[in-house]
Amino acid sequence: MMKYHKQSETSVIHDGYDSDDMLGSLALPLFQTSTFTFETAEQGERRFAGEENGYMYSRLGNPTVTVLEEKMAALEKGERGLAFASGMAAVSAILVALTKANDHILCSSGLYGCTFGLLNMMKEKYNITHDFSVMGTKDELRALIRPETACIYVETPINPTMKLIDLEMVAEVAHERDIPIVVDNTFASPHLQRPLEIGCDVVIHSATKYIGGHGDVIAGVAVGNKEFLDNVQMTTQKDMGGVMSPFDAWLLIRGLKTLPIRVDRHCHNAEKIHWKLRSHPKVARVFYPDDSRHPDYHIRQKQMKRGGGIISFEINGTKPDAQQMLNNLNFIKIAVSLGDAETLIQHPATMTHAVVPEVSRQEMGISDQLIRLSVGLEAWDDIWADLEQALDQL
Ligand SMILES: *Cc1c(COP(=O)(O)O)cnc(C)c1O
Repeated sequence: MMKYHKQSETSVIHDGYDSDDMLGSLALPLFQTSTFTFETAEQGERRFAGEENGYMYSRLGNPTVTVLEEKMAALEKGERGLAFASGMAAVSAILVALTKANDHILCSSGLYGCTFGLLNMMKEKYNITHDFSVMGTKDELRALIRPETACIYVETPINPTMKLIDLEMVAEVAHERDIPIVVDNTFASPHLQRPLEIGCDVVIHSATKYIGGHGDVIAGVAVGNKEFLDNVQMTTQKDMGGVMSPFDAWLLIRGLKTLPIRVDRHCHNAEKIHWKLRSHPKVARVFYPDDSRHPDYHIRQKQMKRGGGIISFEINGTKPDAQQMLNNLNFIKIAVSLGDAETLIQHPATMTHAVVPEVSRQEMGISDQLIRLSVGLEAWDDIWADLEQALDQL
């Protein structure tokens, strides 16, 4: 399909869809259908036997959803994409596909709250254990890998502390032992970071965030090699059932067309705001990877095009002060999620990471003073004016 590697700005608009196939319709038609008719009984037999390509039932595939999967595969430079009902549907289907009872998963220290919950459930129900690692050196990783380690699961940048993990280093160690690496690439987006190009095996997105970009869809996508994802599609996804609806795919394809320009603007705004936050007396510490003082800045330079749109910061004060700062805001919205046009702010200790026990939260670096900001697409000086007046009132 791809004759040469287009740049991502072009790829998101053109890959995966040819209007000639659809009566010249510029916009992709929405195939809002649950099932597909067969011309003959024999054709139905051939489709179900896998001898003939074609659609059968929308839980097994839908043309609108396929276009999104192809666009995501082109963007992440993977063989194929697979769309899910949510980011967590993608995380759970991939982890269930890669593990069996009594296996072990090695994770980055710092994970999305529900991924943490899923790992605990897998431990209780199936004795699939896990360890956390800061993944700082090869030796540290090698020491934690066991014979039953079935996969390495990495988030970078880590939510919400914005620590980074060197994917090239992790891939080298994983491949010594033939262990697949799964990367949750939600925070960076494929415009800034492409783990498959670095040697990782599967990329997962909560497409709810930057991929959709407009705060109107819950969705997930995985990208990786075709054999593995074909298998996931026909096993864990088909039988657990977390498929994406055609309308959600249609909205995501619309959102995706502006992903590169949106992400560049999110980065531009975040770069400006992180400097302002740094010099405010009520702000104790700022965590943003595109800053030479960030401990993982060299990793940012190596694997991410820019620093992204998320900034975390600790305020000088207590938990009630952090909550008061949020209450003082005018147009910035108090909400979890990220990657939307609107600037969103939240308090991880009591919101996204409330399910994580306090000891683990401390280990992850999530204090009661920590605030996470998803910098939106508004004029950056308007965003700063709102943040500044909220901080000044403390
Ligand atoms: C939001 C998020 C998820 C979960 O995605 P949903 O679409 O809400 O199911 C997973 N990982 C990260 C990093 C996220 O931000």
